[in-house]
Amino acid sequence: MSFDKLNLISPILEALKTEGYTIPTLIQERAIPPLLEGKDLIGCAQTGTGKTAAFAIPILQILSEEKRNLKAPKTITALILTPTRELAVQIGESFTAYGRYLGLKNTVIFGGVPQKSQTDALKEGVDILIATPGRLLDLINQKYINLRHVKFFVLDEADRMLDMGFINDVKKIISHLPKTRQTMLFSATMPPEISKLVNSILINPVKVAVTPISSTVDIIEQAVYFVEKKDKKLLLIHLLKNKAIASALVFSRTKHGANKIIKDLANAGVQAEAIHGNKSQVARQRALNNFKAKKTRVLVATDIAARGIDVEELSHVINFDLPNIPETYVHRIGRTGRAGFGGVALSFCDADEKPFLKDIEKLIAKQIPKIEEHPYPLTSLASAGKKDTTKKAHVGKSGSIGYFRRRIKS
Ligand code: AMP
Repeated sequence: MSFDKLNLISPILEALKTEGYTIPTLIQERAIPPLLEGKDLIGCAQTGTGKTAAFAIPILQILSEEKRNLKAPKTITALILTPTRELAVQIGESFTAYGRYLGLKNTVIFGGVPQKSQTDALKEGVDILIATPGRLLDLINQKYINLRHVKFFVLDEADRMLDMGFINDVKKIISHLPKTRQTMLFSATMPPEISKLVNSILINPVKVAVTPISSTVDIIEQAVYFVEKKDKKLLLIHLLKNKAIASALVFSRTKHGANKIIKDLANAGVQAEAIHGNKSQVARQRALNNFKAKKTRVLVATDIAARGIDVEELSHVINFDLPNIPETYVHRIGRTGRAGFGGVALSFCDADEKPFLKDIEKLIAKQIPKIEEHPYPLTSLASAGKKDTTKKAHVGKSGSIGYFRRRIKS
């Protein structure tokens, strides 16, 4: 898709060309159309996804169409709140770049520097204000800033605002905004406090989630069990006894393996369904619908059959077999952690699969914690004295992984 398909006005298209952008990023493609229609939006996306342009372009376009009389005094019509000075500066530069042919004015304010040049810029009038919370509140209190004309409000990196202790300042700022406005909230993760905020400040928001490899991996709790190949089924049955595993998508490398898992689970009294290429489309769809409706707790799938499965609120992904292609691991675990809500990914690794694990850890650039306390340990590993893990984990009653680090003697 090209930017031409997004109904953008020509001065913006021209500016994007000047920037060297030809193809919109995924978040731009998905967020720009609803934003141009005036909808509220939740964007689950990190820096690096092109999210700044995703909100800046529609704001610039709507503002420039509204503000035909550029000679009229400027009032703050768009407010972008972001946690750090660096982000604020970058966002300001983006607005300047994408709006270079529009005649709209933006300014950036942040703390830690004298306020004079910022208040001077404000006095001249601005259309778009990019601010960090502390300085913004300060200047509101000093009556340099009035937010009553704001029509567009962007809360950028909401989860970081929370981490940095800005959430109360953010709430105070929101109380200064008019009730009628278009609101966009971006956050890489959705901790409960942010979900609450989402519910209180957005109206029927469109949800757009893009998960670049690193962010997917960051928000999902992961762990590996070293286990004998023959014991994998017993380990799976053992894990599924934990009722905190509300729904589990179990990955098998082969169709035959998937059928075998279903049989073993059935023998143990665990009801599960399989989807793979040997099943008819109707059977696959039925299994998927049952899983989505939470009628089935466990769905066993091969990688190909799982393509396109989009189950919101999937709590656990279990890799019965580790994939030999590391990217497949990332795609598999990305089935949970949708829309930034987190999730748990557990992987079984037998002696032959250790090289696969190594490749995966290389791709995601981190060590996956190893769970050593389980009933079916890999005896060859123990006898070889190769407990080479630096990070250990255990799965608690809640079904989440509690990590604990210990120094391991080699
Ligand atoms: P952001 O996630 O908004 O911080 O953007 C990350 C980087 O991607 C920035 O350096 C942008 O200039 C660049 N960028 C954003 N959108 C595009 C695009 N459609 N094509 C090429 N580069 C882009």
